[in-house]
Amino acid sequence: MKILEPKINCNICNRLNSYIKVQRKKFPHFFNNPVRGIGSIESQLLIVGLAPGLKGANRTGIPFTGDYSSKMIMSNLKKIKYLKKNERFNENMKFRITNAVKCLPPQNKPNLEELKNCNKFLSSEVKGMKNLKIILTLGLIAHQSVLRVFKKKNSDFKFKHLFVHQLDKTTKMLNSYHCSKYNISTKRLSLIEFEKVFFKLDKELVNF
Ligand code: SF4
Repeated sequence: MKILEPKINCNICNRLNSYIKVQRKKFPHFFNNPVRGIGSIESQLLIVGLAPGLKGANRTGIPFTGDYSSKMIMSNLKKIKYLKKNERFNENMKFRITNAVKCLPPQNKPNLEELKNCNKFLSSEVKGMKNLKIILTLGLIAHQSVLRVFKKKNSDFKFKHLFVHQLDKTTKMLNSYHCSKYNISTKRLSLIEFEKVFFKLDKELVNF
């Protein structure tokens, strides 16, 4: 099934467009465009983050690649054998990984309008994944963006680290704090608590 992806020159969000233009001048060798999700659309697992990081996905053009958060995710996916030892994110892996907002936002903070604008792309990814069983959301914004896709109220699905929500008959959502350097250094999220997320994820998929 073909999913709706943002065009390379998507300019729906004026503020983000202006911001990327500045980055193109400052970092001409960076990707500096909307970053699409990666991984098989046939997967049972979707991982949703916030938005590309300046020197991570915005530099490489691949979600969760090239920065601190990426290392955290990759090492844990390897622990549960969802990635092989030297494997990088690719279109054939058995999960998909994407962001709620596809363009780099200033201070990693997309505004509500931008979140709503970009939700159609996340929605298309979710609806295109016919085998989808579980969505791992990294942080509150990813959690709320997935609820928007499913037309659920935030008040009915409170964000809670390691909590599994039943979104509909066939789809669950597992919450985790975002594995940003900030969250780790401020101890909002410990390495052990983040590791637990992946073992829980694996257990949920095995027992589905
Ligand atoms: S954030 Fe999404 S909707 Fe906005 S310009 Fe980028 S790709 Fe387009």
